[in-house]
Amino acid sequence: MLFTSLLILAAVGLAFGFWFWWACATPTSTFFRPVLVRGPQDGKRITLTFDDGPAPTFTPQILDILREHGVPATFFVCGKNVERYPELLRRIVAEGHAVGNHTYSHPYLFFKSRRRMAEEIDRTQSVIENCVGFRPEIFRPPYGSRWFGLVPTLRERGMHLVMWSATGYDWKKDASGITAAALRELEPGAVLLLHDGHETRGESETDRSQTVAALSRIIKDARERGYIFAPLKEFLPAG
Ligand SMILES: [Zn+2]
Repeated sequence: MLFTSLLILAAVGLAFGFWFWWACATPTSTFFRPVLVRGPQDGKRITLTFDDGPAPTFTPQILDILREHGVPATFFVCGKNVERYPELLRRIVAEGHAVGNHTYSHPYLFFKSRRRMAEEIDRTQSVIENCVGFRPEIFRPPYGSRWFGLVPTLRERGMHLVMWSATGYDWKKDASGITAAALRELEPGAVLLLHDGHETRGESETDRSQTVAALSRIIKDARERGYIFAPLKEFLPAG
């Protein structure tokens, strides 16, 4: 009897653990809401997002490709990288792309206090404002990690939580793998995640050449399938 009870307790604990992990760490989880995971399913609009920049080698290469194809994108930048490369953020904005907040130092948000999360967000808002004169209204958590208190912190600042519904897994795949994965995950309303920059812990730049190599192909193939690259703001609630 005791054994059975313990077994049931362990099973319930394990199930809760898995659910909790899904809620806090899976990009498409809607446990913390309001959240944008994907846009409207009507039509064939998709949107392109780049995280962790700006970075000196790869952000300009990505901007060149986007300009060549006339594709709008959103760059979720880290405050620390904006301080290092402010001219790159100015170029992102000058070329008509949107900017989002991706924290200052790119920490996991698990177990972080509300104050600590607010510091990361506010410091980055200030760095961005000092650089380009406005404060972003969108936020994406590093590693997709969310925690209690994040949504109210964003709400106080009039900011939207933005996740993603598709990715090329460009932190671990080569160009052909990135292209295949990104195209496989596309669907109407897809928010596609790629990376132009690097986490802020190291000084050396993470190699994003495979993302750069995949990008033109992703854009061309997506358009051949009838998808339209839309600005992220079309996917956000009006007002
Ligand atoms: Zn990131």
